[in-house]
Amino acid sequence: MQGFEAYHHQKKIIADLEAAINLLQWDQEVNNIKGSLARRASQLGTLSAIKQHKLINETYPLVQKLCDAPNLSTFEQKNIEQDLKDLKKITRLSVEFAAQLAEACSWAQSVWEEAKKESNFKIFEEPLEKLLNLKRQEAEYYGYDTEPYDALLDIYEPGAQAKQIAELFSSLIPPIKDLLSHIQKKTKPAEDILINQIFPKEKQWALGIDTLKHLGFNFEKGHVGVSSHPFSIAISMEDVRITTRIDENNLHLMLYSTIHECGHALYEQGLPPEYYGLPVAQACSLSIHESQSRLWENNIGRSLAFCEFLFPQLVAYFPDALQNYTAYHFYQSVNRVEPSLIRILADELTYHLHIALRFELERSLINGQLKVKELPEAWNQLIKEYLGLEVPNDAQGVLQDIHWSLGSFGYFPTYSLGSLYAAQFYNTLQKQIPNLQEDIKQGKFESIHQWLQENIYSKGRLYTSEEICQAATGEKLNPQHFIDYLKNKLETIY
Ligand SMILES: [Zn+2]
Repeated sequence: MQGFEAYHHQKKIIADLEAAINLLQWDQEVNNIKGSLARRASQLGTLSAIKQHKLINETYPLVQKLCDAPNLSTFEQKNIEQDLKDLKKITRLSVEFAAQLAEACSWAQSVWEEAKKESNFKIFEEPLEKLLNLKRQEAEYYGYDTEPYDALLDIYEPGAQAKQIAELFSSLIPPIKDLLSHIQKKTKPAEDILINQIFPKEKQWALGIDTLKHLGFNFEKGHVGVSSHPFSIAISMEDVRITTRIDENNLHLMLYSTIHECGHALYEQGLPPEYYGLPVAQACSLSIHESQSRLWENNIGRSLAFCEFLFPQLVAYFPDALQNYTAYHFYQSVNRVEPSLIRILADELTYHLHIALRFELERSLINGQLKVKELPEAWNQLIKEYLGLEVPNDAQGVLQDIHWSLGSFGYFPTYSLGSLYAAQFYNTLQKQIPNLQEDIKQGKFESIHQWLQENIYSKGRLYTSEEICQAATGEKLNPQHFIDYLKNKLETIY
């Protein structure tokens, strides 16, 4: 084997190793065999080290040699360029530094768990400080044009820059606050009919499976399980695993986390199998991934048309709890807006205020403008400013998310970018599919699948998020679509 063929063969081996790593990780989350934790960590470490060694010593030289080869097609060239960029990045960190970072993360994570349990930020200060120092060092190794935070942002959202994210948020925050105050002046939102009633677990499970079938999740190429935090993970495009969480008193949680993870899974199942291992067969970025889950969860799943489609099925499963309500009650329930302290429980509108404040704080931490010990106070002030709430304790405040303890600085903005891309894609879907609402109301999603396949899934990672957005919608990311979408919806409900 030579040339591109040899390179593809090499990339399949890497993908096989990743598949094994992901499967072990999935198993740990879902089956959680306590006695195996330490051994499992070492197994994962071994596989990761083998993968790293292969990437640096086998793939990298092959890619370097190949990128100057004549007669490559544009497609081949694009795959190789993408890998060259990734491999250059990987080799910037020494093995020693990577180990140091992994150790600091593992320490920070275990202290964070303790700190959250005790609601005591003080004990988290030292590991966080250490981690921040290493992350700043990491940013120096990667390099950046404007500020160190950019280098970290680039890990999750290639090409993104703090300045551009800050501009996005400054165009989002005022209209979000306006819309929120408009809503708050009206009557209190209707009660959520999907919570505080009994929804038997087996029935919820069956409803979840039905919903996944309607949405097009391919059970021949996927699996559904249960875990305490719903997630999705691809072993390959032919084996995509998602989990859901079932709480007997909360149907809302199961239903919308299932739809969310289904959006992630449809993306992975839609990647081209013939190119397994190559960048074209990998998801573009975290923000585009999140756009897929949020498109299904929010733009489609919380639309009136979808509520009208699904509600009769909910009543059939849970007549005792729901027979006295209408599809419109369901629609109101899943579109309630109310500021809250916890990000993962936030509604579609105020969610982005949670992200904006995290972005502001982590950027200041990395750039050295904010000290670790000042963090809780800064957090509480911003919650007051953005959401009008008092933070009663650190567990419900600065300690609520795991991300910083994992060293994931620069991750949060991808959640908001995901919603913005989703709204823009949905806007284009509405223009290009003539009877979109009618289709959704009848549970027909083929035209949406087709559009996503053509415009998102088939592009893999050969283009940036911005390029995919431009090609699919005819314009670059424009947050106005998100604002218009929410205004249209919420102003009719409130
Ligand atoms: Zn997600």
